[in-house]
Amino acid sequence: MSLDETAIKVLDVYAAEAIPDAALVAIEAMLGSGDLFRYTAAKDAPVALLEAEFAALLGAKYALAVASCSAALFLSLKALDLPRGARVLIPAFTFAAVPSAVVHADCLPVLVEVGSNYRVDMADFAAKLDDSIAAVLISHMRGHTSDMDAIMALCDARGIPVIEDAAHSLGTTWKGQNIGTIGKIGCFSFQSYKLVNAGEGGILITDDPELAARCIIMSGAYEENWKKHPGLQNSFGHWQNRLPLYNMRMANLSAAVIRPQLPEIAGRVTKGRANHDHVADALNTCAWLDVPPTLPGEARAPDSIQFNLVGDWSDDQARAFQAGARTRGVAVQIFGLSEGNARAFWNWQFLGDMPDQPLTRAMLMRACDVRLPTRLSQGDLDFIAGALVQAATDVMAQPA
Ligand SMILES: *Cc1c(COP(=O)(O)O)cnc(C)c1O
Repeated sequence: MSLDETAIKVLDVYAAEAIPDAALVAIEAMLGSGDLFRYTAAKDAPVALLEAEFAALLGAKYALAVASCSAALFLSLKALDLPRGARVLIPAFTFAAVPSAVVHADCLPVLVEVGSNYRVDMADFAAKLDDSIAAVLISHMRGHTSDMDAIMALCDARGIPVIEDAAHSLGTTWKGQNIGTIGKIGCFSFQSYKLVNAGEGGILITDDPELAARCIIMSGAYEENWKKHPGLQNSFGHWQNRLPLYNMRMANLSAAVIRPQLPEIAGRVTKGRANHDHVADALNTCAWLDVPPTLPGEARAPDSIQFNLVGDWSDDQARAFQAGARTRGVAVQIFGLSEGNARAFWNWQFLGDMPDQPLTRAMLMRACDVRLPTRLSQGDLDFIAGALVQAATDVMAQPA
């Protein structure tokens, strides 16, 4: 294969997961009947079946499918019934949708530092978790799990509820427990660049019947549509008409696209982990690149790789590395160096003036991001790793 052919193939890392053929049968039946709304059928609507299957898969009591993970995060915060302006601790390394969900819920995001291993800095977390904090939203950014034992111990001691943003963590475990089942509510995304691809979509899981009932009603289970959700009848009866209806429901079409992908999750996790570890091993042989190790107890489900430029890199050298990798057919994002990046906290101007997060800023200026979709072959992976190592060596081996 010529360099050009390989380059074109590897550049296609942005294509999403293909949808299994089984989805077509369900969608065709739906188009014939026009039954697209989750609450039309008396029972067994695709969205309801998805909720039952997802709850069973993750080992949670209740699941609620919604329009996006952002909607799930918003509803979770609303369900906690926090006072207007409540302070919610979130990691400073996450996607802009996360502070946005906090703002949407009339709360105030408080940023906590994230270290060079992409995980919450526990010293800063402990320092900022004071009496002014009403809730904690842990965003497992790019599927990196922070020290959930330490976080839960500190929050439990203060009675502070924890919500998990597990948008990108489907299939990740912490000491054998599914990510998204550790906090009070776990939220997942079915947006195209996540492990399960529905274009858009989200789901939240919880074992708390009161939180589940409040989320379900606020998602748009108007009048007595809540009767189509299993269990919870007393909680619903209490909350009906006392909560706003935000209408963030999932449509049956999305559920039909998602359900046939659920049996594929385990395989995607295994392949994604193997792909990631293969490239990580190759990058770690290079003195200028470092893939930080996972925390003990964490089993990851990555569909991308993050690594740091280590040693004495200037911004210009980092940009030259990026350009060199691109010439070799690999697109690298350096979170802090691309203009207007939605994962760099200083671009969240909608928050107004926020204190700087120097640790997170330093990480973002040297942290690189490359997608590794599960469909990549061993040859593709070697091509990507080779291009990255060569691009780094080209820049850093030059005399200053
Ligand atoms: C994708 C993502 C979100 C947002 O998910 P949507 O379904 O697009 O709203 C939030 N947090 C993280 C960590 C994500 O990766």
